[in-house]
Amino acid sequence: MEIKILFDNAAADKKFSTGWGLSYLIDGDILFDTGDKPKPLLKNIKNAGVNISDIKRVVISHDHWDHTGGLWALLKENPKLKVYGCPDFSKSFKKKVKAAGCELIENDSFGEIRKNIYTTGSMAGKYLGLYLPEQSLVLKTPKGLTVLTGCAHPGIINIIEKVRENIAGNIYLAFGGFHLGNSFKKTIAKILEKFKELKIEKAAPSHCSGQKAMDMFKEEYGEDFIEIKVGDTIEI
Ligand SMILES: [Zn+2]
Ligand SMILES: [Zn+2]
Repeated sequence: MEIKILFDNAAADKKFSTGWGLSYLIDGDILFDTGDKPKPLLKNIKNAGVNISDIKRVVISHDHWDHTGGLWALLKENPKLKVYGCPDFSKSFKKKVKAAGCELIENDSFGEIRKNIYTTGSMAGKYLGLYLPEQSLVLKTPKGLTVLTGCAHPGIINIIEKVRENIAGNIYLAFGGFHLGNSFKKTIAKILEKFKELKIEKAAPSHCSGQKAMDMFKEEYGEDFIEIKVGDTIEI
């Protein structure tokens, strides 16, 4: 299986746009989140040599602008796209998907999206003190389980623990936003300790993980730290 990075903070090449948000393509046909704006995403898709019509499904982790920003332009280009959200996403989100003529699937609980690709289902997160539903993706390969997170508002460890409760196998890689940008060193160190305890083999924190956490993960993980750069394809 492969993950192609279509949008994030850093790029492998100048021809790609970067920014606040993320978008990862799994095996050429499932897109996880859509970055912050349509233009840079569409440009990166083109420059990465991806054909929009090959994308069949879009999974939106949570209803925040830096994850849904490119969605509406994609739906316009390809109204056959199936959109996977959570039941408690905003009314306006649901309305816009339906207005585009697209099918909306609302993932409440842990389940398979297609062979070897699972959603955690909606998990309760918090943002600015308010309830925020979010789902993460789980990819199953012979190496183990890879967990893709949007912003990890429900907490990166809570997400990993939900995955472990629902599916057998080692955690090979945790990949995406860990939401530790405002966390103290002590908190990050505790999370790192938990990562080791859970035997998470590789780590790829990005987006809202924050520089401090990224540096600490890099130091702890060494060769098993994966840098996320737009244009790169990660084999898992
Ligand atoms: Zn975010
Ligand atoms: Zn968010």
